[in-house]
Amino acid sequence: MCGISSLPEVFSHIYVEKRAREYIMTEQVLSHFKGSTVIDIEHYKDVFNRPGQDLYLQNSSKNLIIAVNEGKKIFKGAPVCQDFGFDRFYYAESAMNCIFSCDYCFLKGMYGTSNIVIFVNYVDYLKECEKMLEEGPVYLCASFDTDLAALSGICSWQSIWEDFAASHPEFTLELRTKAAVSRVTSKENIIYAFTVSPEKIIKLYEKNTPTLKTRLNSINNALSQGASVRLCFDPIIYVKDYELCYNEFVDTVLDAVDIKLIRDISIGTFRISSGYLQNIRRACPYSSAVHFPFAKEDGYAVYPKKLRQSMIGILENRLKGAGCESKLYVMP
Ligand code: SF4
Repeated sequence: MCGISSLPEVFSHIYVEKRAREYIMTEQVLSHFKGSTVIDIEHYKDVFNRPGQDLYLQNSSKNLIIAVNEGKKIFKGAPVCQDFGFDRFYYAESAMNCIFSCDYCFLKGMYGTSNIVIFVNYVDYLKECEKMLEEGPVYLCASFDTDLAALSGICSWQSIWEDFAASHPEFTLELRTKAAVSRVTSKENIIYAFTVSPEKIIKLYEKNTPTLKTRLNSINNALSQGASVRLCFDPIIYVKDYELCYNEFVDTVLDAVDIKLIRDISIGTFRISSGYLQNIRRACPYSSAVHFPFAKEDGYAVYPKKLRQSMIGILENRLKGAGCESKLYVMP
């Protein structure tokens, strides 16, 4: 489903919490990696939080950890994230870290490792959501600390969330991805949020992710199945010829996608907590995307205001011109 054919070669080692052995999802994940070395561990943090890990080296050889999340599972959405007008905006930590390796990814700043954790006690997550729904409607981003669609070839997290949302109309689910998605559930409250970037940005800074063409095909495929689709022009990344680059990119997107069918569109430039930036720079010492001389605003590293407005303006004006004004959500 995810279109990542190299997944079985990705994990040379898989660390499994002993208590996770009894969960169905553990079996399901392990069945995809017969050739990997499987090591039993007491607690995922013993591996995940090991000090002194080299993210730069790990980017090309990630390991997998299978664990039970006995801690917090659902979190309040962060202020730098778009809430799309929903009051009760949360995200779920179904997994941590991503099979892809975008240079600018906040996960590099947040975690001291590139290794990926999949939590297998999904029933506990769903119970927590049921409880939250007793208080009123919930908007939940399930693919937040990871790309769940990219992992859907090895674990069923994405379809678990889809099934839950399908049977709970008050629960609006966002599944954000850069992966190639072939199967979708057509429901108003299940939003497939595709992040799109110019091919130049993908090649430079979004390692291992599908091409723009593949992403656009996925979007069209989802639309043809009647899915609720969000386009995310976020993050916009600075390159010297950004005006040309992003104008050509909008042309490509508007040529390929029937924009009238899109539910809504988010626009935002790269922004990151200043505390994370140092870690990201260590993890990507040669990436111009993260070594830009950012400004600091309210604890966040951001592009200087004039540049930010110019970059956002390109997308905003072009999309308004295409009749999308009422669908736009812009992070200023
Ligand atoms: S696809 Fe998203 S979560 Fe994955 S590395 Fe890129 S920015 Fe991070």
